[in-house]
Amino acid sequence: MTRNTLGEARTKIVATVGPACEDEEILTELVQHGVDVFRINAAHGKTADFERILKKIKSVRIKTGFPVAVLLDLAGPKIRLGQLVQDPLEVQIGQELSFVRGENASQPDELTSNYSKLIDEVNIGDRVMLADGTISLDVIDKSQDRLRCVVAVRGTIRSRQGINLPGVSLSVSSMRPEDVENALWAARNEIDFISLSFARSAQDVASLKNLLASMDAHALVIAKIEKREALECLEEIVDAADGVMVARGDLGVEIDVAETPVAQKRIIQVCKEKMKPVIVATQMLESMHHNRRPTRAEASDVANAILDGADACMLSGETAIGDHPVVVVEMMNRIMLSTETMLKNVSGDSKPRLSTHVHPITAAVTHNAANIAESIQAKLVVVATRTGGTAWVKAKQRNYIPTLGVSDSEATLRRMCLFWGIMPHQVAQLDSPESLVADVTKWGKSTGVLTAGDRVVFVTGTGLLNQTHNLIFVNEVTKNEVPKNEVPKNERTGQ
Ligand code: PEP
Repeated sequence: MTRNTLGEARTKIVATVGPACEDEEILTELVQHGVDVFRINAAHGKTADFERILKKIKSVRIKTGFPVAVLLDLAGPKIRLGQLVQDPLEVQIGQELSFVRGENASQPDELTSNYSKLIDEVNIGDRVMLADGTISLDVIDKSQDRLRCVVAVRGTIRSRQGINLPGVSLSVSSMRPEDVENALWAARNEIDFISLSFARSAQDVASLKNLLASMDAHALVIAKIEKREALECLEEIVDAADGVMVARGDLGVEIDVAETPVAQKRIIQVCKEKMKPVIVATQMLESMHHNRRPTRAEASDVANAILDGADACMLSGETAIGDHPVVVVEMMNRIMLSTETMLKNVSGDSKPRLSTHVHPITAAVTHNAANIAESIQAKLVVVATRTGGTAWVKAKQRNYIPTLGVSDSEATLRRMCLFWGIMPHQVAQLDSPESLVADVTKWGKSTGVLTAGDRVVFVTGTGLLNQTHNLIFVNEVTKNEVPKNEVPKNERTGQ
């Protein structure tokens, strides 16, 4: 079964690959039900594992005819516990535990970490959070080789659990050697998006971009916002990145969980202003790890993210280790479709926004193409794009008319999988407006999207201005197939 792109939501779905869905058949079903981007979490596995998954995804692309994209999520400077002497270890309020130097703890109440400067950089009064913030330790004393802590919130500690240090400024570098190795693998394998965990500054983002540039890789860099430091320089990070992820799992530990909804809205708003795609992640349909239906609050969470302006919603454990990965994707798609009906009558921006990714002429032309489409009740907008830049600005406009992002580049088609409301569509060549019309009309008629009398607005370039899209034209579908290279002149405006 190929994918019915018309029955899918405009908001994109990012699904994490894991043991529950790694099977090629399940990956195929996930794409058929609306997954646009597969996330490979580099915190779990090595390049040989990513290689295995990528091979299956490539085969799914062929089977479904859909250019599903891949996001490699770099673990970044995530600090983790070392091996516990007693694993798991139940800890109670008031119990004393100590971080010690080195890799090996010798007592059950001693903890180690993979960050050698932890004892130097954490101070008395700081809070150490373990197990996704469910366990909390207060630092009460510090000596040369020991950090004494007392348990403030009880729970079960396990080896290699993540450690969060809210408000502590660490000197750890933004990428560990394994992140560099994974980023290089991603560059070699034409991975579409690379996300950087625990980004703290625009410089962190720039380091990854420079590394990719040195490999001549074109992956888009997604900054994960999950630290207070990142919120403090959010605008600069969004400027430096190609896109952003609201990584609510760690963000909700690094800042007060009560502050996360407002932080999410602010991050989305900044991305809107700066025209960067934004993914909302973590616990969106959490209860569907085991249940076949989400809670009302989860359904509202997905809906609210869309209404705030998210370009994509992400599934983590729900698809990676959950019991019903396909049901979850189906549900997310349904919530999105239902929510998006609210956006139907909302006009996009009144004036074009400028983006660092596209020429201002392209932005203006694309913006007005959407206005024309609305005023003539066009059935479809078609954006021809070589790099995805034109589709990028169109996506941020939030015009509800279905939009086909047409390209002859496979990398561009995959990139468009993250752009709101853009359906990627492959053509053999982006050579002339005539062949574009012929191809789209043929596709529209064969899929039932277009029938005689339907209007289609095209955005493309004359080739007269280098690197810009300076041409809008409207076609009305006729009863007969439009033969290639024979678009009647009067079907185009401005000619
Ligand atoms: C998050 O913290 O919300 C997140 C997406 O990152 P990770 O899953 O890597 O913890």
